Amino acid sequence: MSWGDGTRSVRAGEHPAVPGAPLRPSPVFAAPFHLGDLPPRAGGRDAYARTEHPTLRDFEAAVGELDGGRCLSFATGMAALTATVLACVGSGDRVVLPSDGYYTTRMLGAEELTRFGIAVTEVPTPEIERFAADGGLAGVAMVLLETPSNPQLDVCDIAAVARAARAAGTVVAVDNTTATPLGQRPLALGAHLTVGSDTKALTGHSDLLLGHVSTADDELYAQVLGFRNRTGSTPGPFEAWLGHRSMSTLDLRLARQAQNAAAVAELLASSPAVTGLRWPWRVGDPSSEVAGRQMLRPNGVLSCELADEDAVARLLAGTRLWSAATSFGGVHSTVDRRAQWGGDAVPPGFVRFSCGIEDTDDLVEDLGRGLAALG
Ligand SMILES: *Cc1c(COP(=O)(O)O)cnc(C)c1O
Repeated sequence: MSWGDGTRSVRAGEHPAVPGAPLRPSPVFAAPFHLGDLPPRAGGRDAYARTEHPTLRDFEAAVGELDGGRCLSFATGMAALTATVLACVGSGDRVVLPSDGYYTTRMLGAEELTRFGIAVTEVPTPEIERFAADGGLAGVAMVLLETPSNPQLDVCDIAAVARAARAAGTVVAVDNTTATPLGQRPLALGAHLTVGSDTKALTGHSDLLLGHVSTADDELYAQVLGFRNRTGSTPGPFEAWLGHRSMSTLDLRLARQAQNAAAVAELLASSPAVTGLRWPWRVGDPSSEVAGRQMLRPNGVLSCELADEDAVARLLAGTRLWSAATSFGGVHSTVDRRAQWGGDAVPPGFVRFSCGIEDTDDLVEDLGRGLAALG
């Protein structure tokens, strides 16, 4: 029998129980380790922490088990995405990125990849399946999907794109940040690599930066590992330990966040001040059919549109529990007016809600007060 999400969140990557050993190993704070008279890494001994350290190994074993592959952890989500792309493509290659995806990923393409002679094509998430089916991936070295996309929460069919990509010899990577490894398993759907910003829901307490890549392909694993060793974006022991500790509650947090999002979606849908509500698990959402087929469980991120910047300010002023903050997936409920950052092609009143783990009734009552302030 395979374990459920709660069990796996706590027990993934665990060592066999040894009497006297802690249930969860403490962080090992070391850069170099004693070599003695043995050659480096003889008998699996640690030598230098940029390459590998015990706390990182434990965290990676846990995340990799949830992803269904081998995990490499990085200092941030962007470090993981950069490693994913640069380990797999080179000068003269073409990559396809989502035009509606995370802003900094698009900037990585436009400002960095192109400087090294890597051509970038941007395709909107709702159109990538058709693009791939129509032969658009011919000659493309890598396609990066982001589903559900951030911030507009469009979903694409990973398995369909992966089939077309594999036929074209294109490497498929999926930014799985919004879904988390419990919400979606891109490797099982045919992707070569799954990437996440673990700054978001995987660790979920708004207090650390982390990212990761997992793959079941040994060659790709070696390429990404080599890239990390040579470019040095390895997380230190404290971050890795805190990440591991935090992910133990992923199932509980996701469950409460999704419960809150379902209630908040109903509240927002009933408000005349709200248009364009998106939550991929809401019946009738443009993403709901593919999300229901491909994803394993809902999460707490929604988006919608208010009249303008002033309406968002009035909403926030009318609430106590909803804080203006970027990022998402944390224990606190937050509202982010995306246009203030520049970069996303969204109207001034477009907001992303991230439901935290506060009590549903409190969040709904509080947000109701904010919506009432909009008249
Ligand atoms: C936040 C985010 C990233 C970047 O992660 P960092 O940890 O901030 O570097 C990448 N992709 C998506 C979808 C994100 O939401």
